Amino acid sequence: PYVVAEPCINCKYTDCVEVCPVDCFYEGPNFLAIQPDECIDCNACVPVCPVEAIYPEDQLPEEWEHYTQWNEYLANQW
Ligand code: SF4
Repeated sequence: PYVVAEPCINCKYTDCVEVCPVDCFYEGPNFLAIQPDECIDCNACVPVCPVEAIYPEDQLPEEWEHYTQWNEYLANQW
């Protein structure tokens, strides 16, 4: 699945939510999380993200690796 990382925090754009064909983004107060079981790896969200916050899990920069767990946890909370 794709993972939302740190640059998303406090970003006010929701272009990714609009383009996602399976509605797998979940919105919290200042972050968007991808539900990993629902993401179909289509890549549609990556080019529309103005802050480059979204990565395929296997290309996530090392310093943001913990966001994989955060996305799953938060998406299930919201
Ligand atoms: Fe949605 Fe596709 Fe992005 Fe996954 S890769 S979050 S399915 S737009």
